[in-house]
Amino acid sequence: MNTPSHFQAVYLDHNATTPVCDAARQAALTVMSDCFGNPSSTHSEGLVARQVLDQARAAARAALRVSQGNLIFGSGATEALHTAVFSALLHCRTQRQAGHATGRRLVYGATEHKAVEQALRHWNQHLGLHLDICALPVDHHGQHDLQVLAQWLPETALLCTMAANNETGVVSDLDGIEACLKANGQHTLWLVDGVQALGKLPLHLARRRVDYAAFSGHKLYAPKGVGLLYVRPGTPYTPLMVGGGQEAELRSGTENLPGIAAMGAVLQQLARAEVLTDLTVLAQRREQLLAALQACLGPVHLHAPLAISLPTTLNFSVPGLSSKTLMNWLDAAGIQVSAGSACSSSKGLGSPVLRAMGLSPQAQDGAVRLSFGPLTPQADIDRACQRLRDCSATVPLLPRDNPQTATEESAVCAAPSAPTQMQPPPCLTWPQLASYLQQHPQAVLVDVRDPYEVAAAGPLQVGAHTAVNWPWSTGCTQASNAIGNQRPLVVFCRSGGRSAEAAHHLAAQGWRQTVHIHGGLALRDRALP
Ligand code: PLP
Repeated sequence: MNTPSHFQAVYLDHNATTPVCDAARQAALTVMSDCFGNPSSTHSEGLVARQVLDQARAAARAALRVSQGNLIFGSGATEALHTAVFSALLHCRTQRQAGHATGRRLVYGATEHKAVEQALRHWNQHLGLHLDICALPVDHHGQHDLQVLAQWLPETALLCTMAANNETGVVSDLDGIEACLKANGQHTLWLVDGVQALGKLPLHLARRRVDYAAFSGHKLYAPKGVGLLYVRPGTPYTPLMVGGGQEAELRSGTENLPGIAAMGAVLQQLARAEVLTDLTVLAQRREQLLAALQACLGPVHLHAPLAISLPTTLNFSVPGLSSKTLMNWLDAAGIQVSAGSACSSSKGLGSPVLRAMGLSPQAQDGAVRLSFGPLTPQADIDRACQRLRDCSATVPLLPRDNPQTATEESAVCAAPSAPTQMQPPPCLTWPQLASYLQQHPQAVLVDVRDPYEVAAAGPLQVGAHTAVNWPWSTGCTQASNAIGNQRPLVVFCRSGGRSAEAAHHLAAQGWRQTVHIHGGLALRDRALP
């Protein structure tokens, strides 16, 4: 078993956000240093900035292959989705006020990003429409039920369907949906969330009768805070924000030019080919990762058929392991993935997407999403596979093999709750730790992660100190009298959550000089701005 304590982690959570690629970074830096003007200014600095903006829009037009219609830059996909929903619903209200019939339903795919459902609810309420908001069911593969759609469409004012799902990677049957719209929904407006598909699948916006399409820069190598809305010619549109009249009066507010230029640089690459990397190459990389996961973890339960999923996404579970256990272990092994979407994983909520697909509670509870990007180098895929091979001996044992893991989830719940009346133990940052250890050479480093995480990552060493492992999942029961309670304890874990609770508990047990590390191992040696 090879467990080096320092290895470079592989980031495989691209559906949450991607790193910024060189072309995008360079474009943003050039704008910030050399083309800092305001595109609305009429002096030459402003004209240069205007040119940057025009070039980015031209790149978007070429990348999306739409010669007509509006392409409006904004802050991201959430804004684009809201603008589309607001425009469609306002149009609906105007029609109704003029005595024209409109559908009484607003329909969204049951596995849409929650920004879609929330935008529908928000504007339906605030525009006083009170239409029926209906979740279009999906089958157990995650694809829309087109029979139900066909029944609902004659009464549907707005239909929202994503091109590809952020959690499972399932690709929607846009051709099938369009055929339904042609047959049954002539007057229905159609919004497509193209966030996860851009750069990975051809979207054919011009030949499809998509009315609105939303995109996000940070899902495709541009920075966060920039996005794009496509609006088909003749489709109802009302700006969400008015003011200085930027974006041809379609979206006011001084443009985020560094972000737009960065997104433009990526779109320029897409203008040459509709996908950033050949899809068969991406599918081979996914196969390679899947084979390495299976070799390491045993049977892996896939939650979406590979044939209808983005070739960059795997959503899976390992029977008997919770997603938290699996994620913690993969993270310790140096492979960064997520449990469900970034929004739901940070809140520890179950996945509405997997629930809508009818997955068993066990599969939902164990789901992990691994996603790479179309520009992820082969070397990163190889490194992730190598890490899996190196750490295979440290895989958390399944309950039938290991009574400790069997009770792990209940042990977490049963871990003594920290007393509430005590002052919380102080929290240190990593830079503060060095001087703390100088002042307290007797201090003991206490790693409260689970043993399989420590085994995968290797024991933590800070200077002359090597950490002891007292897992919080079993209540730090290893805390021993051998370490007298006069010795200071420095408690840490992966993210700072478990260590804060454990530190409180240990302080209450008599280790009065207990501190814990803010942000956990995730922040170690990380340069923050
Ligand atoms: N739609 C999908 C499918 C997404 O994955 C996301 C981001 O997670 C969004 C919309 C929201 O995008 P943004 O973060 O740009 O607002």
